Amino acid sequence: MDTSLNNQSRQVLNFCASLVNPTPPKSPKLIHFSSDLVNELGIEDPESNDFLELMSGVKNFPDFAPYALCYGGHQFGHWAGQLGDGRAINIAEVQTGEGTTIFQLKGAGRTPYSRSADGLAVLRSSIREYLMSEAMFHLGVPTTRALSLCLSGNEVLRDVMYDGNAAYEKGAIVCRVAPSFIRFGSFEIFTARQDHTNLKALLDYTIQHSYPHLGAPSKATYLNFFQEVVDRSLTMVIHWQRVGFVHGVMNTDNLSILGLTIDYGPYGWLENYDPGWTPNTTDEQHKRYRFGNQPSVVLWNLSQLANALYPLIEDVPALTDILDSYKINYQNAYLEMMCAKIGIYSPTSVDQALINNLTDLLRQSQLDMTLFFRNLNKFDLENPFAHLTILANDSYLSELEFAEHQAGWQIWLGNYSVRLKREPENSAQRLEKMNKINPKYVLRNYMAHLAIEAADKNDYSVLNELAELLKNPYHEQPEKEKWFTKRPTWAIKKIGCSALSCSS
Ligand code: AMP
Ligand code: MG
Repeated sequence: MDTSLNNQSRQVLNFCASLVNPTPPKSPKLIHFSSDLVNELGIEDPESNDFLELMSGVKNFPDFAPYALCYGGHQFGHWAGQLGDGRAINIAEVQTGEGTTIFQLKGAGRTPYSRSADGLAVLRSSIREYLMSEAMFHLGVPTTRALSLCLSGNEVLRDVMYDGNAAYEKGAIVCRVAPSFIRFGSFEIFTARQDHTNLKALLDYTIQHSYPHLGAPSKATYLNFFQEVVDRSLTMVIHWQRVGFVHGVMNTDNLSILGLTIDYGPYGWLENYDPGWTPNTTDEQHKRYRFGNQPSVVLWNLSQLANALYPLIEDVPALTDILDSYKINYQNAYLEMMCAKIGIYSPTSVDQALINNLTDLLRQSQLDMTLFFRNLNKFDLENPFAHLTILANDSYLSELEFAEHQAGWQIWLGNYSVRLKREPENSAQRLEKMNKINPKYVLRNYMAHLAIEAADKNDYSVLNELAELLKNPYHEQPEKEKWFTKRPTWAIKKIGCSALSCSS
């Protein structure tokens, strides 16, 4: 631990983290807290001044010295050197029966890793991170959590479109919660610096705290560790593909060593099914982090982690075997997941064609991903072509344009009906299972935008409504049906609703 408490930007050598105090905000105000997480953590009075002061960095937890982590990372495929927690500060660690829980403020001031930035976060990006972390948790996707959202009372200067038009925005602070905030890049930085002593110390610490079942440090334990990180990362990305989540900035500094979704920046939600889509304007040209590329990027990032761990393992064939197994395991897990989305629970390789045809049709006929899969619960086995009307309605194409794809859909619906009849479940059983995997309510980009627009005018009603809605994404909520529709046309091209910059 670097104990200098100097928050000037600098290279921090030989340490995993630096002690740093949050910068107290001007006039903090609690806007929202996660009642689930408050209950889970046994927090007694989330509306107290004490809670506000802790969650905004006005005061520190007693007997805990806050710190920021040092890490590096590959950004868009290129080694970027030291990055680190430029605006995140770990403010508490609590031991529970389940293990360690770490509280982390995001946007509470500069750290040695802030480089030329201000260490702050704006309200719009904080609302997006806050709502989405909890929404993902309720969707069953591995993720860091969000405990609280505070206004800081500070004005923060941002150039949203990077076009020279900077403006002041409201500042905010989110308190994130996770068992660990260590990233792939936390290991990469030490290997890049040939600091194998700290590399080993960090790896042993991570295994002891987050993977204790793997046992004492040894090359075999390190390989088992790598295998488990590979498996967990695979599980995470399968969930992303299941629900239609696009992370947007899958740099190695944004991949958690626990396989949790972390760092909600310019993420987006797939609306019309388009594997080539990315919400991140910075990635517009190459679309490295597009929806369809996420599984390959996870593997690429895992290869960087393998390189980082290599000095402690020194066994290329064993590391390569594990990486190779990802490809096969991914294919199997993807087929299983996609089949489960359409109600097939005993898939065979023959079903691959059914899934491939389906995703081709979804893309060509621009169907809304969430609506399509959820509305499959209306599919009538005995009358498959009746489903065409629903499809036409859920497509972003005009009726005329959709008609071009009708023949393809007729063939698919017919094949689907024949295939479903071979499954052992009856319709009711199948529907129940399908409704647990195909969400009804997701945080579409325009929905977050509406919450932000209102909150900017001190109206938190949309934020409150969405936070409640997204607690039960798989349940029918008849009074909330207005959120189960295609995005409105005004949102298609609007910044913040379809495309986002990294400015936050
Ligand atoms: P991100 O793309 O948000 O994952 O950020 C990449 C790096 O930039 C990380 O090291 C962040 O901590 C840092 N960073 C991003 N925004 C800020 C900011 N406003 N102040 C300080 N550091 C930042
Ligand atoms: Mg990050």
